[in-house]
Amino acid sequence: MIEVRHLTKKYGNHIAVDDLSFTIDKGVIYGFLGPNGAGKSTTMNIITGCLGATAGEVLIDGHSIAEEPLAAKKLIGYLPEMPPVYMDMTPDEYLRFIMQARKIPAAERAGHLKTVMEKTRITEVKDRLIRNLSKGYRQRVGIAQALIGDPEIIILDEPTVGLDPAQIIEIRELIRELGQDHTIVLSSHILSEVQAVCDSIMIISGGRLVASDTAENLTALFAGKTTLKLEIRAGREQAEKVLNKVEGIDHTDWYAGDENTVRADIHPTDDQDLRERIFRAFAEADLPLLEMTRIRASLEDVFIELTGAEASPDPAGGDSSGNRKNKKAEKNKDPETDPSKEADDK
Ligand code: ADP
Ligand code: MG
Repeated sequence: MIEVRHLTKKYGNHIAVDDLSFTIDKGVIYGFLGPNGAGKSTTMNIITGCLGATAGEVLIDGHSIAEEPLAAKKLIGYLPEMPPVYMDMTPDEYLRFIMQARKIPAAERAGHLKTVMEKTRITEVKDRLIRNLSKGYRQRVGIAQALIGDPEIIILDEPTVGLDPAQIIEIRELIRELGQDHTIVLSSHILSEVQAVCDSIMIISGGRLVASDTAENLTALFAGKTTLKLEIRAGREQAEKVLNKVEGIDHTDWYAGDENTVRADIHPTDDQDLRERIFRAFAEADLPLLEMTRIRASLEDVFIELTGAEASPDPAGGDSSGNRKNKKAEKNKDPETDPSKEADDK
């Protein structure tokens, strides 16, 4: 559906997007996850034809966004970080304006408008000025705008930023619903949001793609990062001697324990479970193993390891442990998008 090949964007000497390549398949919800400044908005602006690339190419269903912008853009609806919504219009006026700009045949407009408003649940506010709507409703109008022309692909840049927790949950639900009929790419710097909404995750950091897989596979990829935490009643040297005989340990980090004890973090070479082996080794040496806990790497750990950034807390609340029910987003500014562009270009 979308092919991104060796995409690079430089702002002066600063490389915002660095040789990025990936493929977006039809019918999947993708999460573009990365800390602020990672290059998410820049990439989305290039994919949607709002910004030129320094190098590389983007193909939308085989059409180059640079060489055949009209054919390519027809397939994409885009909600930029700064939604191109006109405050002094009503949703009804605004969406009619967008339909005109995107050359929806006059005879189809009334029906299309009705469908889009129903999908995004803005029918009840269609005659109020956009400036008087809540941020949540304004964002719905922005999403409605992206749906005009019924494009196959919907691209949403940080769609829940600045919303309150209830609105965030509603927008996430809306996105999941839209995912039934569209291919969706959304960006977020909130790990739990991407986990809650997306089928597939692309982690981007410093303009580079550092991981790309399902949430489950990304977590599994790091399952080898299981750590065993031990506390042993022994001196470090005694304990080290015992562990040296245990097979399957990559390395061990040592810490001082309480009086007469030592603590060790054991990192296995692969995903094997060393607990029994370690238990027996200490029993044989007659050294009391006071504690042994297995810690599995979470997707949160994966994110931190790959991007060097702390995962942002979820403003929609919920936990950060990766249940897919209840998550959220935050703040990120981007002066990049010209509000008039969307309407004019399409
Ligand atoms: P994200 O959306 O992931 O937060 P951006 O794509 O907005 O990241 O920005 C990527 C990098 O490019 C950042 O370092 C940002 O400061 C820089 N950048 C973005 N837009 C511009 C611009 N118009 N001029 C110069 N630098 C920019
Ligand atoms: Mg951004």
